[in-house]
Order: sequence, then structure tokens, then C-alpha cells
Amino acid sequence: MTLIKSISGIRGTIGGKPTENLTPIDAVKFAAAYGTWLKEYSGKDKLNVVIGRDARLSGEMIQNLVVSTLVGLGIDVVDLGLSTTPTVEIAVPLEQADGGIILTASHNPKQWNALKLLNENGEFLNAEQGARILELATEEDFDFAEVDALGKVVTKDTYLDIHVEQVLQLSLIDPEVIREQKFKVVVDGVNSTGGIAIPKLLDALGVSVIELYCDPTGHFPHNPEPLKEHLGDICTKVVEEKADFGIVVDPDVDRLAFISNDGEMFGEEYTLVACADYVLGKTSGNTVSNLSSSRALRDITQKHGGKYEAAAVGEVNVVAKMKANNAVIGGEGNGGIIYPESHYGRDALVGTALFLMLLAERGGTVAELRAGYPGYFMSKKKIQLTPELDVDQLLRDMEEKYAGDEVNTIDGVKIDFPDSWVHLRKSNTEPIIRIYTEAKSQQKADDLADKMIVEIREVAGI
Ligand code: MG
Repeated sequence: MTLIKSISGIRGTIGGKPTENLTPIDAVKFAAAYGTWLKEYSGKDKLNVVIGRDARLSGEMIQNLVVSTLVGLGIDVVDLGLSTTPTVEIAVPLEQADGGIILTASHNPKQWNALKLLNENGEFLNAEQGARILELATEEDFDFAEVDALGKVVTKDTYLDIHVEQVLQLSLIDPEVIREQKFKVVVDGVNSTGGIAIPKLLDALGVSVIELYCDPTGHFPHNPEPLKEHLGDICTKVVEEKADFGIVVDPDVDRLAFISNDGEMFGEEYTLVACADYVLGKTSGNTVSNLSSSRALRDITQKHGGKYEAAAVGEVNVVAKMKANNAVIGGEGNGGIIYPESHYGRDALVGTALFLMLLAERGGTVAELRAGYPGYFMSKKKIQLTPELDVDQLLRDMEEKYAGDEVNTIDGVKIDFPDSWVHLRKSNTEPIIRIYTEAKSQQKADDLADKMIVEIREVAGI
């Protein structure tokens, strides 16, 4: 049982005692803190907030609490009901709303839920704003509205269609070009809202859809994080159905992974690489991903004559860096595609459409497309430390040790070698260091991670 409060929001397990879990009391307190912050931040008396949720079992319960709390603060609510994170993000500016909340624990299993908080642009709050909301939640100095000033709720169920239409209208998407290909695709929507949104988009693009776990019941048929070990069913189905490829999304539809026609993972890291390859082929420019993402994006960007920049981990950091570097596309290696012409948020619908355009134009199979990209392999390990150890000092010592190499310290310690890299990050919740590596073979990536574990032990004297 857990409740994690951080500057990026509140996330916890359902059930149990308040302050130890995401109970109704915690949901109300945090929603009240967000509403109070929004009044303070906007300086306005009358506010409007867009709310949507993924299909998880606790969604309706948490949503009712959050909506009623905002109404109690005198804030109007536009309720999108079952929706996706990117759909709520595009609805906020379209509604000229002051903010937005998505009720989703993203890729986490069914016992989790969370509040994802947006500003008036439909983008994630920054660290300072997140910190202020935590402060307000602790102080509990809330001022609720009197009876004549309560907020009002309107329900709008058309935003998934509006979202799909917006994707079709993007200048680099030509639905006719995709329709001509008569693609056949298997979709695993993990029984959440991707099971509605992705088939809707594919139908509009003339793609024949084989649905696998597309009923938004919230009963996730497998661990909802789109990693190879959870995706056996769709890998089999793609081969059985002789489909062109498979699409997997997480419960709130901001992460996207593909399965190649041969039933192998296209690789979550390569979703962004492929989408960027298409966009950069049409629009010259720069790209951004986070420090833990594959170097393949840098290689593809340089091939197209652009410049690649790495941001600290976290969507808000990637977006800030994309704006600063005029990136034409960016995102996260975990299958998060951010395409600014649409909006500054990870969007699996946008990613799907860009990928279909790439396939339509390149021809060949998805496995062939994948084989044409630089081959990198990642290893993700961690080292358990003791609570009394000064982890920051340890990371500084590692930085020192590799001072002769290319070292980036905007987020932990990232060391770039000619053919590989390592990224060391401390956890904010437990005494561990996460060790991510990438190299030209799985063996090399694993060996590099093991070597780092030995070196960290040496430096720490443990
Ligand atoms: Mg997600």
C-alpha cells in the first residue's frame, strides 16, 4: 500500500488508511489543493477545468470525488468521462479552460490511480507549481464556495472524435495515402480507453482492425506497462492473423509500442525513432528525448541534418527542452511521441498516424523497417544501498571518476562513451541507484551495467 506525493502529482493504491494510500480523503484533499492553486495562479474568480479518466476500476469513484471537490470550490467542470491523457490535453485549450485533470495511474497496475495535473495550455505543471500544490495540500487552508457560487458540470463525449479529426488534419498526415495500403493491424488496448481511441483512429484511416483487449472494462488482461514480457498475446496474434503489425498502448494512451509482422517487438525505444524518421524526412529540424532514451534518435536526427538534445527525465523537462531548441518532434524512449504541430504532450494517436505514413511511403514490412535502424540494446538494473549512504556524494564521485569522458549531470550522471552510454539516477523514494546502459549488443549493455555496479560498490566502500 503506497501513497507517493511528489511535485509531479499524487499517485497511490486504492483502499486502506488515509495518507498511506490514495483514499477518497486524499483524492479530495489533493483536488482541493489543485483548485486552490489554480485560483491563486490564474488570479480569476471563475474557473473552468476539463476532467477525463482512463478505464481503471477506481476511475469513476476518484473522478466523482475530484469533480465534486472542484464544484465545491466554485469551479466549473467539463467532464469528458472515459478519455485519454492526450485527448484531455487537447480539450483544455479548445474549451478555453484554465486547467485539466486526468485520472489515471498510466502504466501502473489496476490497484493504482493518480491525478495528472495540467495548466491552461493542456500541458503538465512545472516543478515549482507542483511544489506549491503539495504545500497547499499540507496546509489544508481551503476556502469553499457558498451555495450560490457552486460550480457547474457539463458532460461532453465528443472529444475522442475531435481528437481523431485533429490527427487527420495534421499537415504530414494524408489519410488517402494510408487508406490505399489496406493495412491490417492488431490492437491491444489493455481493456482501457486505448481500446476505443486507437480503433476509432484506424477506422478513419481505412485500416482493418483486429481488436484484442479493446473493451474498456478496466480489467487489465496483463500488466499494462507495454514491455515485451507482458505482450505475448499480441505477438502471437499478429503472426496468426498475418497482420502488418500490432499496436499496444498503456491505459491512458500516451505510450505506444509496435509489434513487427514477424511477432517480434519493434521495440518501445524505436517508436520515437521511426516517427522522427518520418517527420525529419519532411521537416528539417531538431529533436529532443530524455537522457535514458536510445541513442538511435540522435543517429537518425544527425542523418537528417538536425541537432539532437537530451533533457532530464520527465515529460515536462522534455517539453521545455523541445521549446527551447525548436524541436520538430521529441518524446521519450518509452514510446512517448510529442509532436508540437499537434500539441506538447505524449500522444499515441499522433504516433500511430505518423508511423502509418512512414510505412505507406517506405513500403516493405515492419520487420524490414526495423532492421534498417541503428541496432542498440539497453540494460536496466539497480543497486540497493543502505539508507545512511550519501547517494548524491556517490554520484559526484562517479562523475569525478569519469571526468575524462563526456558527462552530463542535469539529471543524475550520464556518461557517453563512443559506442555506449550509462545513466545513473537515484530514486527519490528508496535507497537505490538505477543503472541504465545502452550498447551495440545485449551482452555489452548487460556487461557495462554490471561493471558500473562493481564500481559503485568500490566507490561507496560497500
Ligand atoms: Mg501513460
